[in-house]
Amino acid sequence: MELVDTHCHLFDPPMNADPAGVLARARAAGVAEVWVPGVDLESSTRALALGAGLPGVRVAVGLHPQAVGRDRGRVEAELAGLEALLGAGRAVAVGEIGLDAEVEGDLELQARALEAQLALAARYALPALVHCRGAFARLLSVLGALPGAGPTVLLHAWAGSAELLAQLPPGRCFFGVAGVATRPEATRARARVQALPLGRLVLETDAPYIGTRLRPKGAVEPADVREVCAELAALRGLSPEEVARQTTATARAILPGGPP
Ligand SMILES: [Zn+2]
Repeated sequence: MELVDTHCHLFDPPMNADPAGVLARARAAGVAEVWVPGVDLESSTRALALGAGLPGVRVAVGLHPQAVGRDRGRVEAELAGLEALLGAGRAVAVGEIGLDAEVEGDLELQARALEAQLALAARYALPALVHCRGAFARLLSVLGALPGAGPTVLLHAWAGSAELLAQLPPGRCFFGVAGVATRPEATRARARVQALPLGRLVLETDAPYIGTRLRPKGAVEPADVREVCAELAALRGLSPEEVARQTTATARAILPGGPP
């Protein structure tokens, strides 16, 4: 079985103490690739530097909505720095970017940063890794305004309703299934996962931030994407091997080329 963890904060605590050990455990669990997003210019720069020496790691650079705040000048400076990183050509995606109505900050400024970074993704022909919490109507309007040649969008840890799903621009969006769906009490998340088109799904952990049934938040690692795979398989009435095969093929269609 070959799996891809499409969203993992490998260089955040506690995993940053031993990323090579984390990756060795991931490989032992069948995880061939780990996608690591930055959340601002500093973490994106650091992820590119640290990821370069680690097999199977693919790094995205971006300004996360939780890091946007209210200072427009600082956001512009961050975006200019991120564009320089993209120009250097080692980032494989733009992320993590998006909208988050549940954090302190300016949602309008978040939307401007999102639009600017989606334009960067289009310019560099890279996919975008998108986070959205509590601002789905605004997300729909931003994505709906993208030009036809705009970027592929991976909506990580997707938590939108079936109605929202129907309103997204067809053909552009993919969905990350995270550990929430492994918890028996998360009935809405499990129903959402069952409603999504299987060919549009990829697996992720959002390690260490989203707990699974077996692993508490804070201790999650990319190896735990195997549990997400098994649970998605159970929810869809498929074998884990089939879910691994399909989701890994989809991940490789989003990010062609494979890891170094
Ligand atoms: Zn994340």
